[in-house]
Amino acid sequence: MVLTTCKNEEVTQTEPDNYDVVSIEHDWFNVGYVEPKTYVIEEPESSQGNVSYLLLGNNRAIMFDTGSGENLPVDGYKIKPVMEELTQLPTSLLLSHFHFDHNQNISEFNTIAFPDLPFLRQAVSIDDTYSFTSEDLFIGDYPSQAQVNEWLPVNTDIDLGNRIIQLVSIPGHTDESVAIVDKTNKMAFLGDYLYNGSLFLFDNDDLEPYKESVEYLISSLTPDYKLFGAHGTPQIAYSKLEKLNNFLICIENDVCLPTATTVLGYDVVYYEYEGMEIVVFQ
Ligand SMILES: [Zn+2]
Repeated sequence: MVLTTCKNEEVTQTEPDNYDVVSIEHDWFNVGYVEPKTYVIEEPESSQGNVSYLLLGNNRAIMFDTGSGENLPVDGYKIKPVMEELTQLPTSLLLSHFHFDHNQNISEFNTIAFPDLPFLRQAVSIDDTYSFTSEDLFIGDYPSQAQVNEWLPVNTDIDLGNRIIQLVSIPGHTDESVAIVDKTNKMAFLGDYLYNGSLFLFDNDDLEPYKESVEYLISSLTPDYKLFGAHGTPQIAYSKLEKLNNFLICIENDVCLPTATTVLGYDVVYYEYEGMEIVVFQ
């Protein structure tokens, strides 16, 4: 989520933006591609500036997040027609995490994939139904459930057909947050873990896993990887990942100190470091 808090981080013109627009007409979505099999599906008018991604292999596709659900439906659908215009491959929906602003169109997907994380396996019913909690969603009570059709292995190569990806567990923003690392094309899709805008954590205890995740990402992604977030300007400069690491070291060492304020009536603290902001709900 990208609520306005203390001050919005300015997105500078130096952010990379090297993808091309697809000639596809939609009132709500801007669709572009990074390379011919990687679509960026932006919702510039959505309250959260959502960005979803569609990754195609030769045999199958992964849709990473469902969109905001804030647009008007066409023939009962909000994002499915866009997806079907881009690919006819069997497509699995994978959520970057469970927050409300990433899963509102979940009912439009026939195949829902979850990352095969032990705590998620334990949380589903015997028929693989997952019930979203209010903490999962953060705002609202929809969707209440998801039928998990597929468990995608974590830290294991997944072949989409001449395209190898891995799911990587990156807790911090939420426990179930995952990134897609595309080893074939050297791209990583980070969901709400890192994007161009104020970053949010929901407990002080999440700072530690957040730090461990950035260390893991820096150790596994070389600077020639293109990084993409789930809100705002899609592509993230690699230097921002390194800056986040330094930011979290600054917080860890009590050099960057918290300032208290409120967001949506919640008590929060925020930290600032070289133009970046982290907001932590208390
Ligand atoms: Zn989120």
